[in-house]
Amino acid sequence: MEYRNPEGEREHHVNLLLLEDADNPSKRHYVWIKNISALVSHRTKHDGATYVCNSCLHLFKTQRVLDNHIPYCIQHEPQQVVYPNPQNEKECVLKFRSKHKQHPLPFYLVCDFESFLTPVEREEEEERNSMKKLDVHNVSGFCCNRISSEPKYRTPPKVYSGPDPMTEFYDHVMEESRVISKIMSRQVPMRPMTSDEYKLHEAATECVNCGGRFSDRNLKVRHHDQVSGEYLFPACHKCILQLKPRKAGKKSKYSSDGKENYEENFFLVILLHNLKKIMTPTSC
Ligand SMILES: [Zn+2]
Ligand SMILES: [Zn+2]
Repeated sequence: MEYRNPEGEREHHVNLLLLEDADNPSKRHYVWIKNISALVSHRTKHDGATYVCNSCLHLFKTQRVLDNHIPYCIQHEPQQVVYPNPQNEKECVLKFRSKHKQHPLPFYLVCDFESFLTPVEREEEEERNSMKKLDVHNVSGFCCNRISSEPKYRTPPKVYSGPDPMTEFYDHVMEESRVISKIMSRQVPMRPMTSDEYKLHEAATECVNCGGRFSDRNLKVRHHDQVSGEYLFPACHKCILQLKPRKAGKKSKYSSDGKENYEENFFLVILLHNLKKIMTPTSC
């Protein structure tokens, strides 16, 4: 069933339903909907006639409420509710699946920015949607602290206040990324287990990461910290691959003192700035 909305109401309004053959999508047929309220009323417990919005197919109990709704609704594209596929567990069941992300990270950076407000120049003043830009946040400095589970890799926080702080920050983060990647790539072998760790591992019947029971098919493996070499917990052989340190994807996440977007904006500006530097063709 496909739903298409006419652009607003017309003098002669006719609702059509397009039927499609699931096995042969090219086979389609239009039918006239004589009573749209009857067609969609099964979605509510209300047993009387309903007033249907042609743009979102939402049902209203009175014409007055529908009339109030329409001006807001037609500001958006027509909508159709599409339910998740019940055959596909990943689509229809909301579940925490990134189990490897529940363990502490061997390294992360905690950053905070300081900025001051500069009033916008008169000529730069922008008035759009009745919003007036009064001032801009100018970064004046930052602090970046490397946190590591391994004390020997902890460094004093980098504190900077001076000209061009965002370029300085970008260079610092890129340098940290290189240093951390080098440490992570060493993959320290596991140091001998203590007797307590050994007993704990031997007694374990379930994988600490996924909760799956160990068996001949789901083997028990020792998961260790590849930076310190310390034994961490018993895991199944399937999880071991997932738990290996991996390179950060394109969607790396920044989080600093709960003002994610605030700091992200600065970082985005500097990324664009650097991208521009790379992309700008140099005259030769
Ligand atoms: Zn609507
Ligand atoms: Zn597991």
